[in-house]
Amino acid sequence: MGSEPGSDWALAGGFTRGPLGMFAVVISKAVILDLDDTLIVEEEVAHSSLRRAAELVTGRDPGQVVEVVLTTARRIWRAGPDYALCHQLGIASWEGLWATFEASPSILDEVREWAPVYRQEAWRAALQELGIDDPALAATLSDSYVESQRAPHPLIDGAAELVHFLEGRCQLGLLTNGPADIQHHKLAGTGLADCFGAVVISGEVGLGKPDPDVFALTLSRLDAKAASAVMVGDSWARDIIGALDAGLSAVWISAGRPQPEKRPNVTVVNAVGELVGRNF
Ligand SMILES: [Mg+2]
Repeated sequence: MGSEPGSDWALAGGFTRGPLGMFAVVISKAVILDLDDTLIVEEEVAHSSLRRAAELVTGRDPGQVVEVVLTTARRIWRAGPDYALCHQLGIASWEGLWATFEASPSILDEVREWAPVYRQEAWRAALQELGIDDPALAATLSDSYVESQRAPHPLIDGAAELVHFLEGRCQLGLLTNGPADIQHHKLAGTGLADCFGAVVISGEVGLGKPDPDVFALTLSRLDAKAASAVMVGDSWARDIIGALDAGLSAVWISAGRPQPEKRPNVTVVNAVGELVGRNF
């Protein structure tokens, strides 16, 4: 797994001959970071928030309740208005359980109007699935989930150090899929929002990774070129393939997962903290 750091980093930034005739890697002009599960813990937090809500259902195994909620929410989310659009923008069913879709473009108007109904239906149907017909309890669980999710999401080890290391050394962008309101909320919770020259959110611009156009949009906001830019993210399909298709290099955060396929211009690291102090 992984590739040799030297060659791939060089592809991101290019080599130059230093004063002593030695080759050194030049930092890329632009580095674009993903947010969820790259800089902050996301899926695990969502799972813990669901679990906290599930523990309010007396006499049931919280693990089972979580599974039923996830399955039921997914089914209802997929049957909702503009599911194809939400999928394209990378907005997941568990995000719909706490997003308001404020600051979203008009293409998400129907989803914004439906969101409160979806939340109510998802929790109520999940409880019914468990043989519990209790709308008041469903509302309590929904409120519990929203409250837990609105607490700051923890930064992944080394993420803040990486952002501060890159800030000032290159054009630094953030490109994330998700509803505008919750992505902004999570980013604000990190205290790092001001470090980025551009913050692009799929649910705000109406384009999501892996669409090459959203990478092009981010690059244009950074005044950078694809050939001298690198995308760092944990999603192979959305961050890495999207970046490559848009002409960027990429760094995949594997978190121990096997690399799906060998591709040029991709560096693999196990965790974001490994990137601190390294040349891009
Ligand atoms: Mg991610």
